[in-house]
Order: sequence, then C-alpha cells, then structure tokens
Amino acid sequence: MENIITSMQQDLTDSIDIIHAAFHTYLNNSSDMIFIKDINLTYVAASMPFVRMVDKRSEQDIIGHTDFEIFEDSELAKRYTDDDRKLLSADTDLIHYIEPLTDDHGHPRYSSTSKYILRNAAGKAIGILGISHDVTREYIARQRHQQELQYLFELPEDTYAALFMDIDDWRIIRHHRHANGEHVIEICETLEDFTENAIDCIADPNDAQTIRFYRTLSKEMLLKICNSGTRNISLEYLRRMPNGQNIWVRTDIHFMVDPENSHLCAIWTLRDINSQKQESLNLQIAAERDEMTGLLNRASSTKQIQQTLENDPYEQHALFMIDIDNFKTLNDTLGHQEGDRFLTMLAHTLKKSFRENDIVGRIGGDEFFVLMKNIPSVLVVAEKASTLLGVSQMCCDQYPDLNLTISIGISTYPFNGKNLETLYTQADKALYQAKHKGKNQFVFAKEAAL
Ligand code: GH3
Ligand code: MG
Repeated sequence: MENIITSMQQDLTDSIDIIHAAFHTYLNNSSDMIFIKDINLTYVAASMPFVRMVDKRSEQDIIGHTDFEIFEDSELAKRYTDDDRKLLSADTDLIHYIEPLTDDHGHPRYSSTSKYILRNAAGKAIGILGISHDVTREYIARQRHQQELQYLFELPEDTYAALFMDIDDWRIIRHHRHANGEHVIEICETLEDFTENAIDCIADPNDAQTIRFYRTLSKEMLLKICNSGTRNISLEYLRRMPNGQNIWVRTDIHFMVDPENSHLCAIWTLRDINSQKQESLNLQIAAERDEMTGLLNRASSTKQIQQTLENDPYEQHALFMIDIDNFKTLNDTLGHQEGDRFLTMLAHTLKKSFRENDIVGRIGGDEFFVLMKNIPSVLVVAEKASTLLGVSQMCCDQYPDLNLTISIGISTYPFNGKNLETLYTQADKALYQAKHKGKNQFVFAKEAAL
C-alpha cells in the first residue's frame, strides 16, 4: 500500500515537473509577453518578450518584484497594479483588451492583453496570468480602414456617389449616394451592371481612354494596376446625365486591403467637376485664340498645322498666307478702331470660307494663314483662293475710296515643302510676288521641295 502511495506521489511530482518544464520552455520561446503574478501582485514568472518590454535582462530581474520595483514610471506601475486589483475584486477575466504602449524609440504601439485569474483546487484566487501580444500593424491597418470606410457615409457636397468593392471576390460590398446624386446615379447590384451603365453614360464617343478603361475593367486589370504600386486612379470624362445634360465628372478609385480578410478592395467615388473643368477649358481656349479676331493665334495655329503634317503625312495640304493690301490707309484715314473692326470682319469671312477642320489663324498685324487639309487637287485650291478674293472684296467694298483688297501666297504639301518652315517660306515668297505683280491676286509657290 505504502509502495502504491509512494509511486502515485512520484507520478504526480513527475507530472508537475513536466508541466513546469513545458511552461518554462513555452515562456522562453513565446513571442507573446507573458507574466504570472501571485495574489500579492509579485511576479512569479515572465517570458523573454515581457522581460525586454520592461527593459530588463533576464527573468530573474523580475521574479520576486512588484510593478513599483520594475517600472521606473511610478504612475504606470500604479495603473497596472490598480488594474490587477480591480480584476481580482471583480472576479472576472479580462479578454483581448487593446492597450496603447510606446516602444524604446517612443513610437506608439498597441497590444492586445488578456488577464486570467489563477485559482487553486478549491477555486480560491491565487494569482494572475497575463498574456499580451503586439497588434500594432493590425490595429493601425484596421483604424485606417475604418477611416477610409467612413468616407462612404460622409460624402462631400460635390460627390454624387461612392461604391465600395471587393476586387478579390469581384462584387459590390456597398453603394452610397449623396442626396444630390439620387436622380443622377443608378444603384447597381452587380459589377457587370455597373460597368455597362458607366459605358452608356460616357457622352463623348471619341473619349477612347475612358471607353477602353470600362470595357477592359476586370479583376485581373485592377490587380495588375494595384500590383504595379498604384494606389489611386482618376478618370475625367464628360458624362451623360439622365436629364440629357452632359457634365464633366471625375471618378477616383482608391485601393485598400481589408485587414479582416486581406482582400484587395477599392472605393470608387464620382464627383462633379463641371465648373472647374469648364473654367480650365475656357482658359485653354482663350490662351489659344487671338483676342481681337477670335481666330487661332500664331502659336496655336503653328502647333496645329505641325500636328496635321505629322498625323496625315500621306495627304496633300495647302498653306495660304493672306495679307491685306493697303491696310495702312484704312488706319490712317478712319483710325485704328475702324482698322480693328475691319480685321475682325475679314477674319470671320475667312473662317466661314474654309471647312470646319481647316486651320485658320492670325499671324499678326494684317496677316493670316490657313491650312487647307486633305486637298484633292491644286485646282480645288485655286478655286478656293479665287472665291476668297471675291468674298473678301465684299468686306473691302465698304470702303470704296481706299482700294482695299487681299493678296494670297500659296504653297502645297508635300510639293513645295515637307515641313511647316519650308512651306511658310515658300508661301511668303509667293505672297511677295502677288504684291509685286499688283496685289489683289493669288500666286502659287513654284519651288519644288528637294
Ligand atoms: P501692303 O499693301 O504692302 O500689305 O501694305 P499695308 O498698308 O497693308 O501695310 P502692311 O501690310 O505692310 O502693314 C500692316 C499694317 O497693319 C501695319 C500696322 O499699322 C497695321 N496693324 C497691325 N496690327 C494691327 C491691329 O491690330 N489693328 C490695326 N488697326 N492695325 C494694325
Ligand atoms: Mg498689308
């Protein structure tokens, strides 16, 4: 009998030793901060991460001490001790409590702490087991995610709607409209409907970029964009509204990762940018125009002519240089204001005489140039020049005493030149000849390009 008892006691001691050894091995290897305190809140054991967190070298520096001896900051020690006392008097465990901490460099960190009351076989509280692990990354990611999602519910005035999508699952999680977007934006349940609706609303059929974006929109396409490091995409386009009006809008897509399931998600917002866009378009138009006549100015017409020569190198084009004959006499006899009025009137006549996509500009003073695009033959150009002499005569006839007419020099692409500079020089020479031969006529440049 005695042998049996001795053997049972030995087994029990062995079991306790095993549990004790296992627990210490776990403490030494755990990445969690673990501590055990007795009922007097004196430390009994601690893991290495906990030892490092309290700025000590080994577990021995902690065992047998209280928070007041371990922490230099007595307020912090008091807070921890008070928390433990509250836990014991409330007699309930504390599970996953997020605690703000600071690291050695003063950076904010967050830990998730659980504290369990340890009890003896009779159920009496005999100490506390604390387990904390660093959740800084997850905590900050979740906070940022919450802030981003908040945007869905607090749309600014100029934002019609927002959509929150799960790219990995290829589905709409949430759709939110601002009151001002209720009659503008359709709520779509699926991304297929959403894409189809977006394509239907693109007002400009030549807006290839936006059309291509929505036509190729897919999970793979967005993953590719995001994997290239892009976090935001913006698209500006003219959108057809249900009332038939077209307005400029901007779609912003902001990528994010859902910290709960690591799915790639995106918030889409649709914003009204009509007034800003109109303003910048007006400024752009104003910058390209000659203020007085409204024709293109020298710089922008030069640019447009060069673009045409580059884009349509296999077509024939004709460059007209037009100069008013005896214009000074108008200024001298009736004044500059009347001169301006005449220049504006002639500019309108010129513009009306050519096709909409021909380039008509004012070089400066009483000189204009025109690029007649895609001409079928030189004969057509000659006919146009002749018509021009006729129609401008109607403007000039308002001043019968002044002998106002126009002279025209013409060079053709590619015959007289393959770039604007040569064409310009050739047309200018031809204009000089027209003046020299008595004005009120057109002359074609003769020199063939080398
Ligand atoms: P030509 O027959 O040889 O072309 O002589 P012209 O009298 O037409 O004079 P020219 O083409 O040599 O000079 C153009 C004149 O146009 C010079 C200037 O007084 C006048 N001018 C230039 N810019 C303006 C302008 O903005 N408004 C007005 N009213 N006159 C201008
Ligand atoms: Mg002149």
